[in-house]
Amino acid sequence: MRVLVLSDVHANLSALEAVLRDARTGGAIDAVWSLGDCVGYGPQPGDCLSRLGDEGAAFVAGNHERAATGAISVDDFNADARTAALWTAGRLETDEKALLDAMPETRVEAEHFSLVHGTLRWPIWEYLYSAEAGFAHLALQETPFGFCGHTHVPAIASLDVDAPGGCDFRRLAEGESVLLDPGTKVVINPGSVGQPRDGDPRASFAIYDSETQSVTLHRVEYDIGSTQRLMEEADLPRWLIERLSEGS
Ligand code: ZN
Repeated sequence: MRVLVLSDVHANLSALEAVLRDARTGGAIDAVWSLGDCVGYGPQPGDCLSRLGDEGAAFVAGNHERAATGAISVDDFNADARTAALWTAGRLETDEKALLDAMPETRVEAEHFSLVHGTLRWPIWEYLYSAEAGFAHLALQETPFGFCGHTHVPAIASLDVDAPGGCDFRRLAEGESVLLDPGTKVVINPGSVGQPRDGDPRASFAIYDSETQSVTLHRVEYDIGSTQRLMEEADLPRWLIERLSEGS
């Protein structure tokens, strides 16, 4: 079984299509796990939602799903994120919002994998960006393995008695494969499809392969300009358009 694990598509259909294509160059994809924020910031929220729906994706909600339906207030968002969230809310149909509202905050897939947008401590808000947050998350993770998103930066946190705070936290590089060991609890962030923030503008995703019991991090180029043009036509905030070129 090969699973495409992706997060933070952020309504960027060109990036999503590139990922769906590239993921299949190594073989068939048997499942897609979406770790939240498939909408928000970008110009094609409904298209990305239906494209992932066509793939039979298993979803968890991120803060942008909740903001798009009004389930949470946008008061805690920064100005650009708030503008984009309100724009997104105005573009989505009632049935699309019902789909977003129905997404759980956490779920377990394939028995051994916990999925969440942020952390199990604070599912739609907390950034897993430190060993401390990693340890707190892993203490709550009842499965050996987990996936999270939200930071837009590929990374891994693993329980390690020798590490300060009991957790090793580090970034994941393109092409790096993590061998899954049931004796070591880990949570992996596949980075962002539609708005990477690690200085590399290429779309980021991971493939879990059950045969090799490994998770591999991939990057793929996409047509950034086409997404930026659609954002300009939609009059979305300047910085949200520019950051796609920088991967920041
Ligand atoms: Zn996000």
